[in-house]
Amino acid sequence: MQNDNQKVNVLIAGTGVAGLCCALNLPRDMRVLMLTKSTLEESDSFLAQGGICMLRGAEDFNGYFEDTMRAGHYENNEAAVRLMIESSPDMIEDLVEAGVDFARTETGKFRFTREGGHSRPRILFHDDITGREITSKLLSRVKTLPNVEIRENCTLVDIICKDGECFGGVVRDNQTEELANVYADFTLLATGGIGGLYKNSTNFPHLTGDALAIALQNGVAVEHLDYVQIHPTTFFSKIKGRRFLISESVRGEGAVLLDKHGNRFCNELLPRDIVTGDIRMQMEKDGTEHVWLDMRPVGAGTLREHFPTICEHCMNEGFDPLKEPIPVVPAQHYFMGGIKVDLDAKTNMKRLFAAGETACNGVHGKNRLASNSLLESLIWAKRAAACMQAERSDEIREMPKPDHSRYAEHEALKEKYAKMIREEAEREACYD
Ligand SMILES: Cc1cc2nc3c(=O)[nH]c(=O)nc-3n(C[C@H](O)[C@H](O)[C@H](O)COP(=O)(O)OP(=O)(O)OC[C@H]3O[C@@H](n4cnc5c(N)ncnc54)[C@H](O)[C@@H]3O)c2cc1C
Repeated sequence: MQNDNQKVNVLIAGTGVAGLCCALNLPRDMRVLMLTKSTLEESDSFLAQGGICMLRGAEDFNGYFEDTMRAGHYENNEAAVRLMIESSPDMIEDLVEAGVDFARTETGKFRFTREGGHSRPRILFHDDITGREITSKLLSRVKTLPNVEIRENCTLVDIICKDGECFGGVVRDNQTEELANVYADFTLLATGGIGGLYKNSTNFPHLTGDALAIALQNGVAVEHLDYVQIHPTTFFSKIKGRRFLISESVRGEGAVLLDKHGNRFCNELLPRDIVTGDIRMQMEKDGTEHVWLDMRPVGAGTLREHFPTICEHCMNEGFDPLKEPIPVVPAQHYFMGGIKVDLDAKTNMKRLFAAGETACNGVHGKNRLASNSLLESLIWAKRAAACMQAERSDEIREMPKPDHSRYAEHEALKEKYAKMIREEAEREACYD
């Protein structure tokens, strides 16, 4: 690999919203290297459909707080929830400033939609491709920064650490298989979720919780690895592969769930884990592999205008959502647990930060409220950047030299990491 033993100020693993937002908020005189295991457009941030939450005004604080806590079974970190809600208007302003185009009314005001678990509409959206709109705009900005280098198809295989302090990471070039050390003053783990470890998931399959395994391997604290969210409604398919999400906003706008006889069987607007439980029970009762989602109550105009991508996907699968119900099934979707961080995205290892879905700051508790994750990822990434800036120093550190023979077998390492996560998740579940 070129630049073996490269030295940067900040190493960021992951180019989803968390990684990008951190890079954008670092000062321009800090040299940054960003890595993605895949290509730049292959992150879950590009897949987010429904939207991003925003506090609508002081009068909405208690409702938003209570909705987040209720969805999280009151296991949330209250300080983190408060911080996320209070920071939301500023973060939305940052996004608009970066060129993100949210849906607006005729008079130019934000239009808000609603999803399951929310007591009122407070979700900003861009058609049904909000994630693509946000992430592509942030990515374009990052690409213009002279202090940031982005490398695609490069995998972080480990962090370099000694005596409770992080010195950067060991990186594999996926094409040449070569390993290199990247030394950094600060390292951010922003490698997303764990869907790639599941048979049925809405996530990209390369998202296999690598940073979690790296944390476990190096004694970095992790939390709630058994808190995994299953999304109630993904398009049912017999073919293996990533499951297509039918956003919660469709139900928020009036779509209803039906059993095999065409009867409603649950309250579609309850939090995700409850609706998922109701669907699974119904499937068992009916002896079916899926239930039905009838989107016709949403109305043809709103369906075409607000959910064009979902409608197109259904049509491609042979179902016309304007005329008939579509088959849906629950699938793994989101990971509430992760690398334990504080309100500044700091892990318990010096100079090591984590943000986004791979981190656990306690905002989501046991179950995430819809459309809180893009927001949370962005806010903690920005805070990580501020902290790195504040903690810069000219300290000269003696760099440890990792033994690369430990990572030689790519496939064996992948399996080892997956096994570590599975075992830890099962162990935690036993202590519940
Ligand atoms: C279908 C779908 C719909 C969603 N809809 C919404 C929504 O409407 N609203 C909402 O708030 N949230 C939504 N979410 C959740 C949200 O998109 C994610 O939680 C969020 O985007 C996570 O951002 P991230 O930056 O942490 O990770 P990601 O965007 O997943 O990025 C992870 C990055 O890490 C890289 N990576 C992974 N492992 C390594 C490694 N070892 N080395 C180097 N790079 C690595 C990946 O290549 C990628 O670049 C949705 C998720 C999905 C899957």
